[in-house]
Amino acid sequence: MGFHGFMLKTEPEPSLAGACGAYCGACLAYRGELAAEAGRLLQGIRRQGFLGLAKRLHPAEGPKVDVFFDVLDRLARTPACPGCAAGGGPMICPVRVCAKERRLETCAHCADLSACADGRLKSSSAETRRLREGRARLRGEDAHFPFGASEYLARLVRKYQGWNLENLRRIAAEGLEVWEAEMRERADAGFRSVEIKSEEDVYADD
Ligand code: SF4
Ligand code: SF4
Repeated sequence: MGFHGFMLKTEPEPSLAGACGAYCGACLAYRGELAAEAGRLLQGIRRQGFLGLAKRLHPAEGPKVDVFFDVLDRLARTPACPGCAAGGGPMICPVRVCAKERRLETCAHCADLSACADGRLKSSSAETRRLREGRARLRGEDAHFPFGASEYLARLVRKYQGWNLENLRRIAAEGLEVWEAEMRERADAGFRSVEIKSEEDVYADD
């Protein structure tokens, strides 16, 4: 009688490519490292007894000290981001929405990439409608993403100092799998995208 070994069913690993060309596997939010860092800082400050000391030394600053601790505590309890393909990042990221509407996994194979990354691409009518509705909601309580895909992608290119755009061009030339394998290796060796991010606040109004 022949031996039939067990075939282990392995799920394919989800892609960690962001639609904009970022690599989520090298992001502090995906890896939960920012929250862990905040947790360590919070614990250190608590164990040092800094909270009470700060209030005693500067009683008038008490409310500010409380706000600082509250923010740090929230950051420490923030769950890790699931990655772009699993709906992480900004909830209604217009770049991800746009790529999805064009049935693209990333912007790498988009015919409009160059114009879009320069912020020159006009919004589609669907996007214009979404932005109009979003702005109306912004006046209420439900904050909505204030930029269209092209404007946001241009901001991301500035923020990443061209890294994500270079990634998209490499994905187009070499294929997603080859690029992702290299990124995984770099991230395992310690590379984090925060190293190349500029301090520009991509959500700020100009
Ligand atoms: S900015 Fe948008 S497209 Fe880029 S990784 Fe984040 S959610 Fe994805
Ligand atoms: S139009 Fe811009 S955001 Fe949309 S898929 Fe193309 S490059 Fe990406």
